[in-house]
Amino acid sequence: MSEVQQPTPTMPTFDADRVRSDFPILLEALPSGRRLVYLDNAATTQKPLAVIAASDDYYRHANANVHRAIHTLSQRATQQYEGARDKIAGFLGAGSRDEIVFTGGTTDGINLVAQCYARPRLGPGDEILVTELEHHSNIVPWQMVAEATGAEVVVVPIGDDGSVSLEDFKAKLSERTTIAAFAHISNSLGTVLPVADMISAAHDAGAVTLIDGAQAVAHSPVDVEALDADFYAISAHKLFGPTGFGALYGKRALLESMPPYQGGGDMIETVSFSGTTYNDVPYKFEAGTPNIAGAAAFGAAIDYVNALDLNAVFEHEHELLARATAAMQDIEGLRIIGTAPGKAGIISFVMDGIHAHDIGTLLDESGIAIRTGHHCAMPVMERFDVAATARVSFAAYNTAEDVDALIQGLGSIQRIFG
Ligand code: PLP
Repeated sequence: MSEVQQPTPTMPTFDADRVRSDFPILLEALPSGRRLVYLDNAATTQKPLAVIAASDDYYRHANANVHRAIHTLSQRATQQYEGARDKIAGFLGAGSRDEIVFTGGTTDGINLVAQCYARPRLGPGDEILVTELEHHSNIVPWQMVAEATGAEVVVVPIGDDGSVSLEDFKAKLSERTTIAAFAHISNSLGTVLPVADMISAAHDAGAVTLIDGAQAVAHSPVDVEALDADFYAISAHKLFGPTGFGALYGKRALLESMPPYQGGGDMIETVSFSGTTYNDVPYKFEAGTPNIAGAAAFGAAIDYVNALDLNAVFEHEHELLARATAAMQDIEGLRIIGTAPGKAGIISFVMDGIHAHDIGTLLDESGIAIRTGHHCAMPVMERFDVAATARVSFAAYNTAEDVDALIQGLGSIQRIFG
């Protein structure tokens, strides 16, 4: 059994059933007649009616291009699009709405910083610092830039419990570190990284920081200014919003110092064959007709989470984590991978003699959706010497009943294979 700190399981006080009732997909009976137990929230969250309605409302009542026309629909579209920027700026604690660049998601935001901030500044001998627990989205863009520039990707190792120690991070920082890029919360292990201290240490070494906030926005409070993050990338779909949409926070001076990502409409000030001048930030980075419905729906998702008591949500998720962890530790042959203190509501695990995919398939037959595989974190699998893990991850709408169904399902699997 793994040595996980065992908070005492308590009965949830948060009304998760009420939250659940806002999500139409969770209320649908499965073909088997069973209730859906959705525990794959780290991959993507379900959408509340308010978010679905915002997308529908946009296409019914506001569909037009943004920024360009003066007609009523275009004004409505622009209002919804720019309104979402204000909401995201507020939610992330950004000092200015101009520091919020709309992107296709976390992956897109990281690639933007890799190509537009890092690539022009990097050369042979320079270093990009990442940790061993990163999602592929925060590894591969840096490898691509390193290959193009002759810079090197340096890796901070993770401990046996899946934690990242500040000392190990500091030991890998040097005057050669141009950018340090690391997750706020690991999607494969649930580890919460000491990001504020890491950012401060990176700054002391003269490096700029990019934080992969894909998981953190859903599982912890985020305040980019309090963290002093230079860049912070998020995806809407991890926070009850639409897929293929997200935001990159960047400090204004850094954004202003960067060349555009892509060329096209909306990102320019003037165009002529003798030369083109670019729009101000953030529009300089938003070429082409954007995902306007995505912005409107993400704005609605932020309104939705703001209306929940976020601290109560996080407490609720920790109660579910404690309840599930305690019960899983009693299942013979089950090992939790990622046991760092203070982790978020994500549990990766393996079971002796049972492939993770079989766990996933058997649970699915009972209406329980979990994720199995490498979770886009192959170096983590290598670190723990496993081909794959099964992973459960919680959201506000999960209940103690969901956890109990999971534990019952895992118990049956253990009895069949054990
Ligand atoms: N980083 C982390 C920690 C993630 O969990 C994910 C998604 O699973 C990503 C990055 C990539 O997000 P997206 O696919 O929305 O760009």
